[in-house]
Amino acid sequence: RVRDFTSGNQINGKAPNEDRKGDSFVRKQRIAQHRKSLPIASAEKRLVEEVRKNDTLVIVGETGSGKTTQLPQYLFNVGFCRDGKIIGITQPRRVAAVTVAKRVAEECGVALGQSVGYSIRFEDETSNSTRIKYMTDGLLLREALLDPYLSRYSVIIVDEAHERTVHTDVLLGLLKNVLNVRSRSGNEHLSIENPKANSSMLLGKENDAQGGSVLKRCQGSKFPPLKLIIMSASLDARVFSEYFGGARAVHIQGRQFPVDILYTTEPETDYVDAALITIFQIHLEEGPGDILLFLTGQEEIESVERLVQERLRQLPEGRQKLLIVPIFSSLPSEQQMQVFRPAPTGFRKVILATNIAETSVTIPGIKYVIDPGLVKARTYSAKTGVESLIIVRTSKAQALQRSGRAGREGPGKCFRLYPESEFGALPDSTVPEIKRCNLLNVILQLKALGVDDIIGFDFIEKPSRMAIIKSLEQLFLLGALTDDYKLADPVGHQMARLPLDPIYSKALILASQFNCLEEMLITVAMLSVESIFYAPREKLEEARTAMKWFSSLEGDHITLINVYRASDELLEKSKMGCSRDKFEKNLQKWCKENFINSRSLRHARDIHSQIRGHVEQMGLRVASCGDDMLQFRRCLAASFFLNAAQRQPDATYRALARWGVSGILISISILGRSWQADRFSMASYNGELLENGFICSPWTWEKQLTLLSTVVWPICFDADLGKEIPCRLFTMGFSSSLSTVVQPWDFHHRG
Ligand code: ADP
Ligand code: MG
Repeated sequence: RVRDFTSGNQINGKAPNEDRKGDSFVRKQRIAQHRKSLPIASAEKRLVEEVRKNDTLVIVGETGSGKTTQLPQYLFNVGFCRDGKIIGITQPRRVAAVTVAKRVAEECGVALGQSVGYSIRFEDETSNSTRIKYMTDGLLLREALLDPYLSRYSVIIVDEAHERTVHTDVLLGLLKNVLNVRSRSGNEHLSIENPKANSSMLLGKENDAQGGSVLKRCQGSKFPPLKLIIMSASLDARVFSEYFGGARAVHIQGRQFPVDILYTTEPETDYVDAALITIFQIHLEEGPGDILLFLTGQEEIESVERLVQERLRQLPEGRQKLLIVPIFSSLPSEQQMQVFRPAPTGFRKVILATNIAETSVTIPGIKYVIDPGLVKARTYSAKTGVESLIIVRTSKAQALQRSGRAGREGPGKCFRLYPESEFGALPDSTVPEIKRCNLLNVILQLKALGVDDIIGFDFIEKPSRMAIIKSLEQLFLLGALTDDYKLADPVGHQMARLPLDPIYSKALILASQFNCLEEMLITVAMLSVESIFYAPREKLEEARTAMKWFSSLEGDHITLINVYRASDELLEKSKMGCSRDKFEKNLQKWCKENFINSRSLRHARDIHSQIRGHVEQMGLRVASCGDDMLQFRRCLAASFFLNAAQRQPDATYRALARWGVSGILISISILGRSWQADRFSMASYNGELLENGFICSPWTWEKQLTLLSTVVWPICFDADLGKEIPCRLFTMGFSSSLSTVVQPWDFHHRG
């Protein structure tokens, strides 16, 4: 089968003048040559000068021009790391931090983790000698908790600022304060010559509500000045420039070849199928060049990977030369680097990527882009306080970025899997994440940094007042804030220290008090990865049977614990007399037999050991509750209650509104696909009782537990059956493993 595409506009590019990489060159020379050929290379001197002259600088440049990999090296070379200071580069995405750090280490000819390293949540590849440090923006925010002025850094580069993730936005607000403080303390050195100028500056800043406490704490201390560089792929530098008081903006000329944009003639009902057909259409009909397909998440990528493999086998021998490489954020980092490796001679590479290939990572060799026009995004309803991950249409800006990936090294083609008429209806740009997510973490972090007035904080774009208030309320209910909205001692401080969703942090803290932290650590780790179970369409029955082995009547969380423990047992057995390699093979085989996603399980095991390290460091008691899961379930209920939902007669789930004023109709697929809904259905709560006894009264956590043991557990009975049944909690929106479809729905008071 083939698809008809109609031709749309061309993106016009500049004249091709890129040097071809010589095959005969040794790798080192090739790298040097590559570096010289990047558009940014000709601007090296100018950029270094601009950084010297300006404390804040905005740099805008086409994706792939060399901003992320080259600028830190330029600055390092001219001495910005003197006195052991560090150049920090933040990325919104883990994959970018990892792959770019590896690349730069290679370019510098050093071992990763030495002078060039990276640090992301749950993974630290840095050492005392690290001078160029790539990290996620969230991680730098955490570092600010321990070092509020980021005093180890001489330069901070906030990369991919156009993505406007919630972390980037908060980081920019924080850096604005840090910059004030550090340029001021720089001025304190000067103040010997000009004390007047300095004191007037001090007065001006003192009234700043946003960073009052940070500033106050800093009085009199001396910090070396900080250089802040904001880098963006989008042309609109104005918003950043204005936010930093008219900061200087410079543009780097990119290089873009023409890209033919093709649209489908009709709307596609099944974009996965359409994408598959398009891959083979390109493979069989078009000239050489790699393909980049944008998908929405790990699960989808893995299922497309299987489908492509299957269809490939149906082609004649000689035409089977397709190399499929996935890339998404939870892919183990050795595998992430695969996308950068050229395909073997005669093969065509097909990269299945999430949004990370849009601007964060630039993969060489791409000539064809397939864009279904969709992306997974966070959405948030301030009314209900429910956050979820849903698949939405991309913006025009995203569609343009995606097609641009095809024209980096020569003319290319972009196949948009929707009709041209739909392009016009796309929003121009994406709404910043801070306007569509819950603010629990943001608030917790700001409070921990000493910023008490959240509504008055100088955000680059303010979240709605309603969203802030809702999140404050939720943090209060979780016991993180006192009733005058100060960080509660010790729970709030502990929660801010854990690099997790506040609900998870609360669950761990509670579990340590109720002797079931071992179980909770497993639960949190398993909920932190995309789905653990998978069920290929053609083997539904088998998968269902396999899952029965693990499933627990006491709830999905305990099912997840069972899976984890079974893998533990396998490890124990394998330790007795077989190598690591053998264990890996055994695990792979065991996962396959049990329809468990081995990548996800491995990732969960990694996360588990990382979080365990964190809680041990904090002095939380790690103990197991053995077979008695009651305490564990109580801790679950006492922390996940914000996500309680009720099963409706039509097998969809409705979030229980916490104040009984509104609700949400959700159709979910717990642990994967909707067919599991019957197996993993949640027991009905008695809605009224929950509203009266559980939902409506704010309480401290001690009271909560009393309520739980006396009210909540006994009411977990099935109204239809008229008898008590095991209660199951349904977690929603906080784990990417749960794809939820959420529609607003009015809640009706019963009686
Ligand atoms: P920008 O930040 O301006 O988008 P980058 O600095 O990320 O650009 O990339 C510059 C060049 O380095 C691109 O041509 C890209 O293909 C190449 N590159 C980046 N990372 C890798 C890698 N891990 N392996 C090979 N090439 C890479
Ligand atoms: Mg970049």
